[in-house]
Amino acid sequence: MDKLLMHLENLARLDGIASLESQVFQYMKQNLTPLSDEIITDGLGSIFGIKKSKVANAKKVLLAGHMDEVGFMVKQINDVGSLSIYPVGGWWSQTLMSQRVRVTTLDGRVYKGTIGSIPPHMLTDAKRNSPVEIQDLLVDIGARSKQEVLDMGVTLGDMVVLDGDFVRLNDHRILSKALDNRYGCAMALAMLEAFKDVDLPFDLISGATVQEEVGLRGAQTAANLTQPDIAIVYDCSPANDAGADKDVLGKLGAGVLLRFVDASMLPNRCMLERLKKTAIAHEIPHQYYLSLGGTDAGAIHKSNMGVPTLTICICARNIHTASSICDVNDLNAAYHVSSHFIEELNDTIINDMITCNQ
Ligand SMILES: [Zn+2]
Repeated sequence: MDKLLMHLENLARLDGIASLESQVFQYMKQNLTPLSDEIITDGLGSIFGIKKSKVANAKKVLLAGHMDEVGFMVKQINDVGSLSIYPVGGWWSQTLMSQRVRVTTLDGRVYKGTIGSIPPHMLTDAKRNSPVEIQDLLVDIGARSKQEVLDMGVTLGDMVVLDGDFVRLNDHRILSKALDNRYGCAMALAMLEAFKDVDLPFDLISGATVQEEVGLRGAQTAANLTQPDIAIVYDCSPANDAGADKDVLGKLGAGVLLRFVDASMLPNRCMLERLKKTAIAHEIPHQYYLSLGGTDAGAIHKSNMGVPTLTICICARNIHTASSICDVNDLNAAYHVSSHFIEELNDTIINDMITCNQ
């Protein structure tokens, strides 16, 4: 569990949007390597470590988070030295004005800046009451002209990420950017770490995909690469508890999510039931959850001839902003239910999952 928190903090501080995940890739590679018998990668940039079983023809269990966070690319460099941006992943434009950003060039130079906003003094009533469009936002990195931006080495397509440092608010709450989904990357590392001295009756393949936020693209190639018999996807879902409704699904601190339906996948029922029973048996907090979004599970479960897949998610407030908040007790619940779920797996149980809907 300490490792999970350490990796989460280190990973959340890295920047990586879809197609520019190399900072995260390098961190994953460095930390997967000492825990794995073999490292495998695909052509888009996903990476997994394999812990091989001593059993011949062992089944393959895939664990996956995704490395990319929501961000932007530089779309246009304007004459006055400002940058127009293109969203990579889902944003609500109202969360963006006056946020600090980091712009990273292809050769690795990093520039700080902010997303400009119109001061209240200069706002007309019409502007004040209409939502701002992302295409109208301007990033200011302190340059006085287009030429100055070009001289800094900034090019169209460069990565723009909101700055949102990892902060422990208290014993139970964490504030940070990119909890979606460095949580998943940290879980993939923590699970391999948890089983490093344990003989498992299956190959454990653990790592992270790329390009989830633009439509589960890396998950598709990662499934081709790993050819799993079953899969577990770790992701960070929206908490929904900031309003007054006490019966709402997705409460911060109420435990790991039993995600029984989402827009991309209906989970394998034997896996979901086992997750619930595991949580109950080990007195781990858990909550049912329904999502209008999706995860990499949406692509993985449809790969090959169909892969029984389950998500082990936590929820966080304000996801897809620079200021997400998650609960340490939820991380704890996810870590423990996941490790018990994996340690109890065997060939019979995996076969039951494969034949679950028959
Ligand atoms: Zn995610």
